Order: sequence, then structure tokens, then C-alpha cells
Amino acid sequence: MAIERTLSIIKPDATRRNLTGKIAAKFEEAGLRIVASKRIQLTLAQAQQFYAVHSARPFFGELTEFMASGPVVVQVLEGEGAVLKNREVMGATNPKDAAPGTVRAEFAESVGENSVHGSDAPETAAEEIAFFFSGLELVG
Ligand code: GDP
Repeated sequence: MAIERTLSIIKPDATRRNLTGKIAAKFEEAGLRIVASKRIQLTLAQAQQFYAVHSARPFFGELTEFMASGPVVVQVLEGEGAVLKNREVMGATNPKDAAPGTVRAEFAESVGENSVHGSDAPETAAEEIAFFFSGLELVG
């Protein structure tokens, strides 16, 4: 499988509970390398732009207000099949459905406040990485 890069966001529910290190450790233990990382606070407009694909969903307002409610840690993860591997480490969207040992099974508070975002395909990963990082900030 090819070496890929994917975008991860450690969400406000997790930064609030000081879980950044524990979540990053799960990525590294799975063989993903953190090649870029920064802690930022999104404005509501930035959260709406990032999640524009979900703008018609009933939870769009809740989701974007949550994502702007506190600091997030945005990271680029690199490794073999990184997009899929990160989705496996994250677990299902709803923590009730997430497999044991996954980030969401261990840390998520609810389907909305579920601790992590991860790109769902290589094409979206490229767009999402470019949303947050310049090429100079990616150091493999
Ligand atoms: P993901 O790719 O596993 O993050 O899931 P989706 O792309 O389906 O949804 C994006 C994000 O929207 C999720 O991670 C949740 O934070 C949020 N979300 C999804 N479904 C719901 C829901 O039913 N209610 C609320 N409040 N948020 C949701």
C-alpha cells in the first residue's frame, strides 16, 4: 500500500480534557507519523467552511459551534494507507458503535463530541491538509 497523508483534528472535547498526548500516542502506536501539528482556535466561520460538505445536515449548527467552542489540535499523519489506518484508530462516529481500543470508544463523549476528525479519502485528505497547512509546515 502507498504512503499517504491524512488530516486529523483532535476536537475541543478532547483538548478540554487534556487528552492530546493520549490520542497522539494512539496514532504513533499504529505506525502513523505526525509530520505536522498545531493547536488553534477555529472561528465559527472557519468551522462552517471546513464542514461545508455537511451544511444541509440537521446537526450542522451544533457541529460547527462545537468545533469553534475551544482549541483543536490539527495534525497531518503519514504512513502506509494512512487514511484508512487513521479511520481504524478513530473508530466509528458514534462511540457506542466504536470498536474497543479505538480513540472514540475510549474517549468520545457522544456522537457529536467524538474527540477526533479524520479525512475519509485521499482526495479529501489533500484538500483538508491544504485548508490548515502550507507545504513548508509538513516535515516528514
Ligand atoms: P466522521 O467521518 O466519523 O467524523 O463522521 P461524519 O462525516 O458522518 O460526521 C462528521 C461529524 O459530524 C462527526 O464526527 C460528528 O462530530 C458530527 N455528527 C455526525 N452525526 C451527528 C449527529 O447525529 N449529531 C451530532 N450532534 N453530530 C453529529
